Parts: sequence; structure tokens; C-alpha cells
Amino acid sequence: MDNNKQSNPVADHAQPAAEVLSLYQSSEQGLTDAEAAHRKQQYGTNSLPLAAPKPAWLRLVLQFHNVLIYVLIVSALVSAALQHYVDCGVIVAVVVVNALVGFIQEGKAEDALRAIMTMAKTRCMVMRAGVLVTIDSADVVPGDVVMLQAGDRVPADMRLFFCKDLRCDESALTGESQPVDKQLQALPAATPLAERNNMAYMGTMVTFGLARGVVTRTGLQTQIGAISDLVGQVEMPQTPLQQQLAVFARQLTMLIVLVALATVALGVYLHGYSLKVMFQAAIGIAVAAIPEGLPAIVTIALAIGVQRMAANHALVRRLPSVEVLGSVDVICTDKTGTLTANAMTAREAVCQQQRYLISGEAYKPEGAISNASTQQILSLDHTSVFSQASLIAMLCNDANVLCEQGEWILHGDPTEGALLVMAMKHGWVLKQALNDWPRIDILPFDSGSRYMATLHHNNTGLLRLMVKGAPERLLSFATQELGPQGPLALAPEQWQQAIDDMAQRGMRVMALAYKDYSKRPQALCQQDVEQGLVMVALVGISDPPRPEAISSVSLCQTAGIQVKMITGDNPVTAAAIAKELGLNASKVLTGSDLDKLSEASLAQEVENTDVFARTSPANKLQLVAALQRNRHVVAMTGDGVNDAPALKKANIGVAMGGKGTDAAKEAADFILTDDNFSTIAQAVAAGRTVYDNILKSIIFILPTNLAEALVIISAIMLGSTMPITPAQILWVNTITAVTLALALAFERAEPHIMHKPPRPYGQGFFTASLLGRMVLVGAVAAFIVFSLFYYYRSLGVTIEFARTIAINALVMIELYYLLNCRFLSQSIFNRHFFKGVQPAVYAIIAVLVLQLTFTYLPYSQQLFGLASISAYDWLIIILSALPILIIVELEKYLLRLWKK
Ligand code: ADP
Ligand code: MG
Repeated sequence: MDNNKQSNPVADHAQPAAEVLSLYQSSEQGLTDAEAAHRKQQYGTNSLPLAAPKPAWLRLVLQFHNVLIYVLIVSALVSAALQHYVDCGVIVAVVVVNALVGFIQEGKAEDALRAIMTMAKTRCMVMRAGVLVTIDSADVVPGDVVMLQAGDRVPADMRLFFCKDLRCDESALTGESQPVDKQLQALPAATPLAERNNMAYMGTMVTFGLARGVVTRTGLQTQIGAISDLVGQVEMPQTPLQQQLAVFARQLTMLIVLVALATVALGVYLHGYSLKVMFQAAIGIAVAAIPEGLPAIVTIALAIGVQRMAANHALVRRLPSVEVLGSVDVICTDKTGTLTANAMTAREAVCQQQRYLISGEAYKPEGAISNASTQQILSLDHTSVFSQASLIAMLCNDANVLCEQGEWILHGDPTEGALLVMAMKHGWVLKQALNDWPRIDILPFDSGSRYMATLHHNNTGLLRLMVKGAPERLLSFATQELGPQGPLALAPEQWQQAIDDMAQRGMRVMALAYKDYSKRPQALCQQDVEQGLVMVALVGISDPPRPEAISSVSLCQTAGIQVKMITGDNPVTAAAIAKELGLNASKVLTGSDLDKLSEASLAQEVENTDVFARTSPANKLQLVAALQRNRHVVAMTGDGVNDAPALKKANIGVAMGGKGTDAAKEAADFILTDDNFSTIAQAVAAGRTVYDNILKSIIFILPTNLAEALVIISAIMLGSTMPITPAQILWVNTITAVTLALALAFERAEPHIMHKPPRPYGQGFFTASLLGRMVLVGAVAAFIVFSLFYYYRSLGVTIEFARTIAINALVMIELYYLLNCRFLSQSIFNRHFFKGVQPAVYAIIAVLVLQLTFTYLPYSQQLFGLASISAYDWLIIILSALPILIIVELEKYLLRLWKK
């Protein structure tokens, strides 16, 4: 192949498919691994470059774009104009420190989010040397033969050479929202891009059908690569709480400015302070009261949450959903693979009313088929009914198992894998069987029809349609059943009994059937399958609940979260598994039951039913809507292409990283990389923790800021000497604004996080109890500071000395109060207190070191008007500040009593 192929466009759509295959030196069998590796070196990885992150300077500038900071900057300018250079310097310092911490931490947060975005890799099925394998889409090279099916995002530009009802949504590329039907005929070279319906283009979505194509271009050479260099743009939309906080900050700033001005007026008219002194005080009040660190801390808390969730297999796709998680009160989950292990093994089969047992484990094709009553081993004889059944199981199947480094690995759908392995255990060999019975047409599995059918012929010209699917479906299409001498009249009751028997034991039951043709049907369609089938066998596949799912279900129940199972599987199987999981299995509603319900009775039924079976994707949407009308906050899982609407509609859409289609992943807020239900429960706990930590930061910052401002305000009101000067308050504000509250963003989950009900959705953060706390902490702090100041003054020390005591007492109060804030309502006198205490300890040590430097450094003593105090004085400070710790714990205790 010529090296310039990618950069030198050939009209791939204008040539017959076979021509294109040979042009790219490939065949329907695909490339060899060696050739693919070689081409990857030549053409590079098949990916588009990520959008460049926001430039650093812009991120830095944005740190200053905030009302709170504007007021600080104005204050600094006014201070400079009044020639209060110390004040100006300290205010500039807090602005700069705050911006730097915000800049660095948010940078880390954005990097982490970006990394998490790229963790959700897309994979695709390619043919390599005649074997279907799943690879990273990034490894696709020109000439690769790719298999497409509904829900896939097309991994590269390709010319189709096989196509079955393929339909693609190409809006990402052409803007056309109507899906495009694909076909195979060559087109005139001048056909515009949007009409080249024998090609599939990178980045577009397969909405229906299946196809195979040969890759013509990869990476930046693709059509989408040529028009966009902006994929993977990390969106950081504001969360509801951040929006609330932004509004709150604006209102608070106005209030603070008003209070500061009122204080100036009061001081000048009532107590005859000079205007210059009062301006300085007003600036001290305003700067102290402004919670400038809050926006950065909220972003950081969210980012830490996102990182912790990613480490626990939950990838966040939309940041605001992290907050919503804490309010989730219903989780709707599918069964197969999420609640169960999805390690499917065929255990039993029934044909001719005879039960057979299948030995062996997992996907290793070693084991034997034995007659359940005689224990006789059944060997392959090509004519027995079981042999016919297992041939259908093998051929009406797209899965493959391969031995990789001594381990048997499944490629494809687990249900199909189980059936394939059963046939292999019986002695069938896939290559041989496909040789004898080549496949000429297919109706792929779809969760609406619940079956899959393939059309085959053998060398005698016999045409056979092989079907597998949900047993009640196939039974309703069947008119006969296979006996040892050929088809007999159907005995539906006996089949139904066998289905119920296996389903009651929690097994997934699949039916196998066939139908012979003398003439090839034009194009295989549903009518061909849905009449005149010959039932052959039932297969019982075990898929036990994941052990950790059982404990997670009960964890959710204690956390006030209902768990509902919504499955496409049989109601009896679903009930059996639900019972093992601890769900209420006494009532099961099926999709057809749901379709018959009125809106009013649906509203009632969704409340007292836990298990929904034989549901369609439309039923999922219907259930989410009904639950939301009942004011629930719903998390919903999904994996198929048709689940996308329900995932979008749910408050939290959760897609499966492993078995989920690209369509589902793109509609979701979260992706579970391990497809595991317990991960959802863990993510809910993590979401609750994030919200708690943000609340803790708020509950720390607002009261301490109020306390700082109150010390100056009350001194002016009383017309007394200020126990702490405005310049000193500015210093305290600078060193505590980001350090202390930041520690709370790193808190671990409180031990009781999953023992309380979900937080009401949309509840504001500014509650009566927060206001109460602000008043309490403000009053206690002002009282302690004033008392100490007057006590020392009465001893006859200098004013500098008394102020040094007062300011250190204020800082000490904040340090104690930080410990209070580590638990929102629980007592901190608790053995869990020491778990995860490190961030708080580091922050406290940092503040103490800064405070000692401030107090004893001669230069700083002079600048701020301080004096050296003794160790004994420190003891007094430490003891006098202690009441805050006790009083706040007492308040928490009383609130706990009152809430009970
Ligand atoms: P769930 O994932 O909730 O168990 P699905 O929608 O995957 O449900 O499947 C619904 C039903 O369709 C299954 O109970 C089974 O009877 C049938 N089925 C599942 N997979 C296949 C398949 N690959 N081919 C044919 N039928 C299938
Ligand atoms: Mg499924």
C-alpha cells in the first residue's frame, strides 16, 4: 500500500467494496496482528488530539474574577490611598495567596478530570487474521476490518462491505439529525459527504443494525479529524451549589459593604473617631467578613470527590452530578452483570422432556454433558436432539472464547459465551461447524424482540434458520418440537413447566429452535422467525448475585435509598435473584403489565414494587418518569443503545464501562468501569461526603469570618479601644482564609454517612442552623477576646501586649472550632475522630508556625504593634479559648436531641 494513501484522498465510496479491500491490502479476514502493528507505526494511533486546556494565564486571571475579590482589591487601593501600606500589603497578600492556591489546586483538579475523561476508552471489534477480537479504538489502522453494531461509535472512517439494516446517526459530522440508512453499492465520485451511504465515518453513532467495513482512514486523516480539533473538551459547568454560592456571595458582599459603611458613620458621629481611622476599620471589617477562600475550596472539594470516585471505579462525566448523588433516593438497576457476576455458565439443558447436566466452570470449554437421571455421558452423534440443540447454540452466536496465556477469555456477550462453551463441551468445533453450515443472513439480538436468528445452508442445499432467545417468545412462535425421529406436535405445557422449574432456581433460561426452508427467503425479517418454529431445547444458565451486591443493597436500604431491579429477563428468574439480594420479590411487574397501567396506578405501583421483568427500554423511561413525578431523585443504569433516553431522563444516568454501548456511555453522567452495583452505592457515599465537606467548609468559614468582623464592630459600637487593630485582623484573615477551611475539603466520610436519609433535593445550604451557628460562634469569640483584653489591661500591661493576647486568642478559637467542624452533627468525642485527622493537623501546625512568627519576629512586632508574651500567657490563651470547643459540641448535642 502506498504511504501517502491517508493524505492522498481516494474516492473510497466510488469503488466497489472488494476493490477497496484490496486497495488497502486487506481481506474479509482482516489484517494479521503483525501487519496491524506495522501499520500502526506507519500511521500512528487512531485518535484525535485532546483540546488544549485553558491557558495557564487565563486560569490565573480567572481566579481574580469574583465579586469577593473585587471588594478586596478596592479595599487595597483605598488603604494605599490612605497611606496604610501595611493594610494594603496584607490585603494584597491574601488576594495573591488565595489566587495561587486556587490556581494550583484547580489546575490539579482539571488535570484529574481530564485524565478521568480519557480513562473511559472506547473499544471496538475487529477481525484479525480471521478471528474477531476486541481492541482499543486507538489501535485501529487502515485496512482493519471492523464490525459495527447498534450502539457503537464508529471508530474510524470505513468502506462497508457487509451491511444488515445499518443506520447511523451522523449529526456529529454533518449536523443532520435524521439517521442515515447504509448500503453497499459504489457511488459517483462527486457524491457529497452526507450522502456517501456506503461509508461509515468516525465519531458517528450506529443506531441500528450491524455491518462490517474496511478502515480507510484513521485519526486526524478522517473526515471528523479534518473538521474538528476540539474533542475531549473538559467541561466544568457550575454545580447547583456553586450557583447558589455565587448568588449568595453577591448578596453577602452587598450586606458587608453596607454594615462596614454603617459602622463608619456610627463611629464618626457617635464616638467622634476620625474619618481616616474609621475607613481603616471599615476595610478591616469588610475584608475579614468576606469569605474569599470559599469558591476555590468548593471546586477543590468537588475535584477530590471526583478523584476518589475514579479510584473506586466510578468515572464522573458531568461534574454537577457529583452533588446530585447525595440526594439520590431510588436506584434503578439492571440485573444481569450489575447485580449478578455475569460469569454465565450453562448448567442444565432440557430436550425431549429429558434433563441434562453440564459440568465445568466459567468459559473453559472442558466438561461433559450427562443425562440427569441415568448419569450417562452424552457424546456427540450429530443426529441426537441435544446435538442439534448445541449446534444451534454454537451457530446462532457471535461470541468467541480464546485461550490467552492459559486462561479462557470471552469475547462478546456472556449469554452467548455460555451457550458456545456448552456446544464446545459437547464436542462441536466452531470452524468446522461454520464450514459445514455457512451463515448467509442474520437478525441480530435486540432487547425488544428478545431473540436472535441466523440463516445457514449446508452442502446438500438445506436452508436452516437457527433461533435462540427468551423461551416464552420462541414457544409462542413454535408449532412443533424436535423428537429423535424428527419434528413432533408441540406440547407447550411441558415446556412451560421446564422453564418455570429452571427459572425458580434463579437460572437464566434460553430456548433454541429452528426452521427449515426449501427456498431462501428474500431478506430475513421478523415474520420469518415469528411463526412455524420447531422447539429443540431449553438451556439453564446460572448467573448468581455478586456477593458484594447483597451487602450493598442492604447498605442502600439503611441509607434510605430504595433499590429497584429492572431487567429484561424472565419474571420468575428475576424474582429468584431478587430474593437472594434481599429485595422485596413478592411482587413482580412485567413490561406488559406496565404498559396497561394508568398514570395514577403506575404512580402507586412504582412505590411498592421492587422487581420489574421482561421490560423494554421504553419501560425504563416510563419508570424513571413515574418515579420523578413522585418526587424521587432517581439513579438509573443502562447499557444498550435504546437505554440512552432513560439515562438522560434520570437524575443520575449510570452506564456500564464494560458491557455498555458507546451510546449509553455518552448519555450517562457516570460510567462504572467495573459494571458493579456496589460501585453505585459507594459513589453515593462519596457524593454525600463531597457535599458534607463543602458544608463543613461553609460552616467553618462563615462563623469565623463573622467573629473576626464582630471584634472590630463591637469595639466601635462600644466606643472602646480596639482589642485587635484592623491591620491585625487583616493578618488573621490572610493566614486562616485558605489554610484551615481547605483541610475540611479533604475530610473522609463520616462513619454514619450511609445511616442517614438522602439530603432533600434542591435544599439550600443557608439554613437556620447555619445562621444560629454564626451567631453563637461570633458571640462566644467576641466575648472571649474582649474579656481577655480587658483582663490584661486591668493588670496594667501595655496596649500592644494586651492586643497580642487578644489576637492569638482569636486564632486559637478558630483552631478549636476547626475540630468541631470535622463532624457536622455527630460528636467529635468519638473514636473515629482520629481517622483522617491529618489534613486538619497539618493546617493547624501551619497556622501556629505563621502565628508564632507574626508574634515574635521583631520586624513584624513593630509593623503590627505587638509584644512578646510568655509561655504562661500562652497557657491562659489556650485555656480561655477552649470553651468554644465545648459550647459548639453542646449545641450539636442539643440539636441532635431536638431532631430525635
Ligand atoms: P437483562 O440484561 O436485563 O437480563 P436483556 O435485555 O439483556 O436482559 O435480555 C432479555 C432477554 O433476552 C433475556 O432474558 C434472554 O432471554 C434474551 N437474550 C439475551 N441475550 C440474548 C442473545 N444474545 N441472543 C438471544 N436472546 C438473548
Ligand atoms: Mg442485557
